[in-house]
Amino acid sequence: MTDPDCLFCKIAAKQLPATIVYEDDAVVAFKDITPHAPVHIVLVPREHFAGLNELTPERAPLLGRIALVAKDLAGQLGIAASGYRLVVNCGPDSGQSVFHLHVHLLGGAPLRLKLG
Ligand code: AMP
Ligand code: ZN
Repeated sequence: MTDPDCLFCKIAAKQLPATIVYEDDAVVAFKDITPHAPVHIVLVPREHFAGLNELTPERAPLLGRIALVAKDLAGQLGIAASGYRLVVNCGPDSGQSVFHLHVHLLGGAPLRLKLG
């Protein structure tokens, strides 16, 4: 369920500091420590799994929950109309650096095609 050595599990459990902007029983969202856009939020499921390659039918609803939270945060942060992007990196070619599934919410300025 959680991995005691995982950075994002520790943030979700508040064992490491982060600027949490939303949390519920299944999803935690916090500000990215190295933002690539004026708005850069990381959304994670509380359940630990490494990434999209570990997605199962049982876990798939978590992505819907995360998308709903991202949409609501976009509204609260004032970028719903100007636009935003959700990004999920998976594996070496994507540049994934934290192996706990997460979705980036990026916006607040015109976005370049590539993240990072
Ligand atoms: P990825 O490259 O898709 O694995 O994204 C991982 C993201 O986590 C990067 O954008 C990092 O800046 C971000 N990150 C790493 N450590 C922290 C932290 N302690 N708090 C918030 N964001 C972090
Ligand atoms: Zn984790």
